[in-house]
Amino acid sequence: MRDLIIVGGGPAGLTAGLYAARARVDVVLFERMAPGGQVLLTDIVENYPGFPDGISGFELMDKMKRQAESFGLPIENREVRGFTLSPDNKVVSTDKGDEQTKALILACGANPKKLGIEGEQLLIGKGVSYCATCDGPFYRDQEVAVIGGGDTAVEEALFLTRFASKVYLIHRRDQLRATKILQERVIGHEKVHILWDTIPVKILGQTGVEGIEIQNVKTGKTSVLRVQGVFVFIGFEPNSELIKGLLELDNRGFIITNAEMETSVPGVFAAGDIRSKNLRQISNAVGEGATAAFAAERYLENIHG
Ligand code: NAP
Repeated sequence: MRDLIIVGGGPAGLTAGLYAARARVDVVLFERMAPGGQVLLTDIVENYPGFPDGISGFELMDKMKRQAESFGLPIENREVRGFTLSPDNKVVSTDKGDEQTKALILACGANPKKLGIEGEQLLIGKGVSYCATCDGPFYRDQEVAVIGGGDTAVEEALFLTRFASKVYLIHRRDQLRATKILQERVIGHEKVHILWDTIPVKILGQTGVEGIEIQNVKTGKTSVLRVQGVFVFIGFEPNSELIKGLLELDNRGFIITNAEMETSVPGVFAAGDIRSKNLRQISNAVGEGATAAFAAERYLENIHG
């Protein structure tokens, strides 16, 4: 039996792993893909302290991974398929077998939300994308649409201006949700055309995106934009499917914890984007990872007497 399993290798999981390994806890981290989480999808991170010139998402996560490993954190490539979560019995079922553990930190993060409109599912990977860093370079000198008005949508719209000849930013209200500095950069940008009070209705095309049908929510008028790419950035949903019914979640499926990152089951902690909270940043994910590791260590000390 393990003392501590961490599920998820984004900033929260890697920091929890760093703290636990440094405290010489018997710990292992499970990650189904490459460690790094959603930050890997970010081109430049400019608000993580310590990097005044910004740092690429890939480089930052590579540094976090190497730092955790330097203290002896084992990172195993495993896909979690299910959990048993009770105060006395915690099992993580994976594609490589079941593992029992005394304590567990859930840092499984979140995934981009889908629009749920006609054409979206059919055209994923054929013009519909949730990652500008991954797919932006395919749209050199073409026209693209970005859906959303938050930090992600605005940052990614600005990133896409490096390649696309024109970026339509389609937002359902008349005011952006994004932070002011990003608004200053995008409003009036020569390549960005913002369509206010507008929602996407249908993505057109069969084998590739040929356009997007949009509707003005104030006038009800619909029209078609002839774009070759549609980038969707309308927020995130938690990776908590496997935890439903086992832990207390909020009404959107994020895990509820106290300030010590304790969930409703003793010995189970949560950190990062999967937690119910208002701000989802690398900086607070890192702090929550450290807090969760510290709380798990104290929990293990108590049960070991
Ligand atoms: P978000 O802040 O939840 O914004 C989602 C945007 O999509 C909102 O503008 C929302 O409109 C719109 N939207 C939601 N559902 C929609 C739908 N069905 N159809 C059309 N539009 C829809 O998500 P986010 O931008 O991904 O950011 C998530 C978190 O990460 C935030 O806490 C953000 O601050 C943080 N983040 C920070 C940075 C940074 O600091 N550099 C970068 C990226 C993300 P409404 O405004 O009308 O609700």
